[in-house]
Amino acid sequence: MKLYVNELNKHVGEEITFSGFVDTIRDKKWVMFVILRDSTGKVQMTIEKSEEANASLLETMNKVTVESTIKVTGKLVGNDAVKLGGIEIVPTTIEITSLADTLPFDFNNLDGVNIDTRLDYRWLDIRNEKNTLVRQIESCLTEGMREFLYKQNFTEIHSPKLIGAASESGSEVFEVKYFDRKAYLAQSPQFYKQMALAGGLDKVFEVGPVFRAENSNTNRHATEFTGFDLEFAHIDSYEDVMSLEEDLLIAGLTKVKERYGDKIKEVFGKEVIIPTKPFPVMRLQDLYQEFHDRYNFDLPKEDIGDMNAEAEKLTYRLAQEKYNHEFMFIVDYAATKRPFYHMRDENGKLQGYDLIWRGTEITSGAQREHRYEELVKNAKEKGLGKDVEFYLQFFKYGCPPHGGFGIGLDRLTMLLLGLPNLKETEYIFRGPNRLNP
Ligand code: ATP
Repeated sequence: MKLYVNELNKHVGEEITFSGFVDTIRDKKWVMFVILRDSTGKVQMTIEKSEEANASLLETMNKVTVESTIKVTGKLVGNDAVKLGGIEIVPTTIEITSLADTLPFDFNNLDGVNIDTRLDYRWLDIRNEKNTLVRQIESCLTEGMREFLYKQNFTEIHSPKLIGAASESGSEVFEVKYFDRKAYLAQSPQFYKQMALAGGLDKVFEVGPVFRAENSNTNRHATEFTGFDLEFAHIDSYEDVMSLEEDLLIAGLTKVKERYGDKIKEVFGKEVIIPTKPFPVMRLQDLYQEFHDRYNFDLPKEDIGDMNAEAEKLTYRLAQEKYNHEFMFIVDYAATKRPFYHMRDENGKLQGYDLIWRGTEITSGAQREHRYEELVKNAKEKGLGKDVEFYLQFFKYGCPPHGGFGIGLDRLTMLLLGLPNLKETEYIFRGPNRLNP
């Protein structure tokens, strides 16, 4: 098993084998210092030039370029003079495992490197310490949220991304050739999450790809992103869904703060704030009024009943000013602006919500319509026919009241770390103009 930098201090005084990238070579008159790197940190290797036995090591190292990978055996010794953890590797053998060409840019200094050039060489871009951290932190966030759900007896599912019908909520879908007919890429796992509840599973979640054929170039829209979606049964109201989402986010953020809080402050300049429960909730109409009174802002007519980007920004401002909170739930959206499967009450009031964090929508959630007749009626109203027929069947043979939500994981990470764009956040970004690497 490979020994990692962050476990080396347990092996001082021992013969070890270490593999990693060659981060830096400092070739001095009497000594060669080589800094080696893996995903957990950096360690120094020191080769004394005066020692005859080192001649072949130096010969090998003279062939090695920066960012090559090598495998070293030698003694790990304590040395207070070494800045990197007070330890150094004194090698006895060095094997070059991969030789690197000259790099297209210096990933340690990305200032002035065009984001598209960076994405063209994404595997080099993520060697940057900050970008490695983004991946590790997102993984930790997911771990915290997953752990919470497992503890709550949720079952993780994996629903198909190739689907036979195009329509769900009006979002644009990608069409793909499927032998001699058409298929589509799933715009969310919504229908299949609900099918699991009709199958008696009670509590399910899925972390997986979501496809949106949106030809937009905003900082928060990608054509493929990772959805963190869940659905659970036997709820009394959408407020149960909101409450679970609060707990889920608190669990995820707590995990991140414990493991990476200090690092996030140091590298990204952001404080990880664990929100208090309950999060503030505001009706859309009241929000509009607050916007008008406080910020002299009125939503354009076409967005009434919904939000736009400016309104989301102001919502964050309001959440902080009025409630000293980072999150805000918005309820009472117009049913016309929401998918047919969101439940409405007897007065037509939508039983759903959006959650805004740091100026951006991160979730849509709702109690779902589980009553077959009502669902058929809602679908008809939205002009949905054949495409949703298979879905409507799920509700014919008994299906408990239920609700759920979908979080855009990439957006969550972007907001957590204060990154400017999903291009920086997604592991490998997909947008209207990017399908490679
Ligand atoms: P928006 O109004 O911001 O376009 P939406 O209403 O289409 O989002 P939903 O369909 O409710 O979003 O999807 C659930 C969550 O997925 C959103 O709250 C958001 O966090 C995320 N999301 C939606 N579209 C995208 C996208 N194109 N790229 C990245 N994340 C997205």
